[in-house]
Amino acid sequence: MGRDRIVIGNWKMYKTSREAADYIEHLAKKIEGCSTRVYLAVPYTSIASASNTAKQSGILIGAQNMNDARDGAFTGEIAAMMLKEAGADFVILGHSERRRIFNESDEFIHRKVIRALSDDLQTVLCVGETGAEREEGKTEEVLLRQIESALQDVPDKAHEKVILAYEPVWAIGTGKTATAQAAQEAHAYCRKCLEQIFGKRKSGHISILYGGSVNPDKVKEIVKQKDIDGVLVGGASLDPDTLAAIIHQCEGKR
Ligand code: PEP
Repeated sequence: MGRDRIVIGNWKMYKTSREAADYIEHLAKKIEGCSTRVYLAVPYTSIASASNTAKQSGILIGAQNMNDARDGAFTGEIAAMMLKEAGADFVILGHSERRRIFNESDEFIHRKVIRALSDDLQTVLCVGETGAEREEGKTEEVLLRQIESALQDVPDKAHEKVILAYEPVWAIGTGKTATAQAAQEAHAYCRKCLEQIFGKRKSGHISILYGGSVNPDKVKEIVKQKDIDGVLVGGASLDPDTLAAIIHQCEGKR
């Protein structure tokens, strides 16, 4: 289907603007000539400087969250158009840390997805089951609910700006990576859900990334899988050499 390989680094609440600039200069040199598309989700305060530094490198800079409103009296929140103005090309929505720690509901995430796409931000939608849900055999039920609720009523053509990230909650920040086979099974199911929403042709263009304790040793086997188009990397993305090693492992024909 000709989908690109994508690697997204999610820095969470780490790195100042100065550190971000140094990191990006270093990473850009290490991945010169690579064809994998590289995205970095940085703290809000680093978006402007990071996008300036990244300009010539092809690395895309984005945010890790946003509010669903256009603007308004929402102390401490940030709007899609503010992220765009600062230089963000994309936003991560529905990350399990937002769902779990900040009690974000499926409905809220859906409203954010619609806002982000309407304001022309690529949207990386994160979905995934908890360890308990997997043990209870509810993985598919959870994935279907999260994908359907977030992506319903997406405006025509906006599916082109959607990236899906399958991130089993039990694998995030735990060092427990899903086996390549388990990840492939979940991805194949996610693709089926996307087909139900957008139809086969349109959904075939949507990349699905795996996230959860990815590191340079494990990534090759993961991205060999048919329905896995790349990876979303948290902890291991904090070191540019480690992220560069992951990107190099992702290089090659799809
Ligand atoms: C994440 O934050 O989305 C993530 C996958 O984290 P980690 O790679 O540290 O598990």
